[in-house]
Amino acid sequence: MLQYLSILLDDTSVAYCHADNPLTERYLIPLETLRKAILFGMKENLMIQYVYPDYELQEEYNALIESIDHVKIGRDVVVYNEVPKKITAENAVLRLSIADFIAKQYDIAVLLPQIARLNICLTDIETFKDEQIEEYQKALTTLNTVLLDQYKSGNRPQLSILTDRLQLKEMHNCGAGDTNIIVAPNGKFYLCPAFYYDEQTGINNRLNHHNPTSERSVGDLENGLQIPNPQLLKLDRAPLCRICDAYQCNRCIWLNQKLTWDINTPSHQQCVIAHLERNATRDLQRKLFDAGFAIENEIKEITYLDPFDVRKNIN
Ligand code: SF4
Repeated sequence: MLQYLSILLDDTSVAYCHADNPLTERYLIPLETLRKAILFGMKENLMIQYVYPDYELQEEYNALIESIDHVKIGRDVVVYNEVPKKITAENAVLRLSIADFIAKQYDIAVLLPQIARLNICLTDIETFKDEQIEEYQKALTTLNTVLLDQYKSGNRPQLSILTDRLQLKEMHNCGAGDTNIIVAPNGKFYLCPAFYYDEQTGINNRLNHHNPTSERSVGDLENGLQIPNPQLLKLDRAPLCRICDAYQCNRCIWLNQKLTWDINTPSHQQCVIAHLERNATRDLQRKLFDAGFAIENEIKEITYLDPFDVRKNIN
């Protein structure tokens, strides 16, 4: 069931997930389109997230934006594309390449005591190689050490890739096209911003059975949402993900389609990274338990990093 509507206020709105925004020319959503998008969100009872560009909007836009409860991505939730020296926001997204994440692990660790929630978003998951497993594990261990100290001193900063899985008892993924939908400045719906960027830049080589062109929209504000085969976006139609307990994994469908040509089949890279994080959370959980913290949601030991290896043995 849909829960969130993200409205891209401009073609240059900030990228806040895996995909970079390649669009450099401003195209502000027309006021009337914004009004219709808000109305759609109200009628469907959706939580609205506005995605901001890096410039200030005119007063008539601000007034309309404030007419409904919302979150501002690029304002309330600050997005960084490199590790800042200091963070003043409560909630931030840090978009980094895997190499930068590993290289800057100590700089990231310094930020943890300063923030309530830090979301890590790796921007080049497709390049991940198994030879990087050890380095990635080490970086997670560095961050775990700081998280443990923080917990012991009474702080509980959230670091998406390590603390989310402590709480989760079921999948809590990105939900593109399932719990989340996007409205772009052209008034059309997209599963996530990355599909809009692909359309706008004419990328048409990520074929699926329905739509082998660069048109990536799934409806518009005039005619409503029209997602072809929406059941294919559901967890129960994902044979690997439904047997998996890396509940914090993004399950990025855009990345799936890019790497496996199937929207609901994940890549080896995505699964390995998510399992390294899941296992690091297990280490953190055990250390918290040893330090006297109550543990409700025990994460089991597993011997694989890619559920495909388990599934292949079942079949
Ligand atoms: S780790 Fe792989 S199988 Fe598990 S939820 Fe993520 S994408 Fe799906």
